[in-house]
Amino acid sequence: MAIYIALWDCRTCSHTGNLGPHTNCAACGAARPKQVQFYMPEKPITVEDEAELQKAKSGADWICGHCTAHNKAWETICRACANPRDAASDDVSIEEKEYNENEVPITGKRERQLNANELAHIREKNAPSSKRFLWLFPIALVMIVLTLFFWETESNVQVTGFQWERETDMLHYEIVTHEDWNLPSEAIESSRFQAIHHYNKVFVRNETRTRTVQVPAGTERYVCGKVSKGNGYFADKYCTRTIYRDKQESYQTPIYQDVPIYQNKYRYKIWEWVKKDPIRAKGKNQNPEWAKPAVSDASKWKEGEKRQKYWIWVRDKKGEVHQEEVKYSIWQKLKLKDKIPSFEQGVSGSYKGLDLEKMGQ
Ligand SMILES: [Zn+2]
Ligand SMILES: [Zn+2]
Repeated sequence: MAIYIALWDCRTCSHTGNLGPHTNCAACGAARPKQVQFYMPEKPITVEDEAELQKAKSGADWICGHCTAHNKAWETICRACANPRDAASDDVSIEEKEYNENEVPITGKRERQLNANELAHIREKNAPSSKRFLWLFPIALVMIVLTLFFWETESNVQVTGFQWERETDMLHYEIVTHEDWNLPSEAIESSRFQAIHHYNKVFVRNETRTRTVQVPAGTERYVCGKVSKGNGYFADKYCTRTIYRDKQESYQTPIYQDVPIYQNKYRYKIWEWVKKDPIRAKGKNQNPEWAKPAVSDASKWKEGEKRQKYWIWVRDKKGEVHQEEVKYSIWQKLKLKDKIPSFEQGVSGSYKGLDLEKMGQ
């Protein structure tokens, strides 16, 4: 167990770095402060001398209750006033203190040093308020630009044209081939074959594998801090921890195999309505109609799903023409040269779209 010489600072004359075991200041001769703060120097001073080691281990110094002088553990009467130890119950020993490694005092000052962050924070707090809010300006600028960008005003545009498109899916009745696990009763010309229906996980065997695990292998003592002995010396503080070693361990792991399960499957032909290319009609007028199917055998064709789309062409204040899709209910009511409500960009006046809400869409 290593022993180190501590240091302490005088509070009478501000002399720093008095050697720990010394009970009086090297500069002014004042006694150590009553609440003396022993600390470790930057470079530890290890005690090697046997006689000094004995002194270090002899116990904490005591403070005379009569005159406040500091005395060594082995002194039985106060070196300053000759009062015997314990003659007054006010004699006190300097406390022994344990410190973890990162808490060992390295300065005699009791107040903490402020770090750079804390200093910057204090400076910022005391800065004139005009500068404190400077950062708000770029944000305000961005918000103003965004507001202007999204700012829209009411306007109107003129209808200059119409367009429509109508589409009908066509279904054809024909014989198609399917494969399935079940055979529909309407099927014609069926055949049966074996096919993989699914896979089963089947246990094959256990396999022995090895892995590395950590197992406790006793304890060790290590230096985990310092103990202030109350007499101007520090001693290493020891803690105990478990040490581990690697161990190879074998374990069993199950191995599975995917085994295909076969079942009867059917390939069959069946009459079905099959979706074919849709038929379309379109125009640039206000007379929409559905395309008429042109088929040779009407019994084998029928119409399926129908779709329709309607657009208008509008001219804005700047003379630019735009195409807009609208609902049929609105489209059919509009007439050429009608003025209809729209939006334009607040600053530039560019066309931004129809005011569909106002038009009842
Ligand atoms: Zn001093
Ligand atoms: Zn005394």
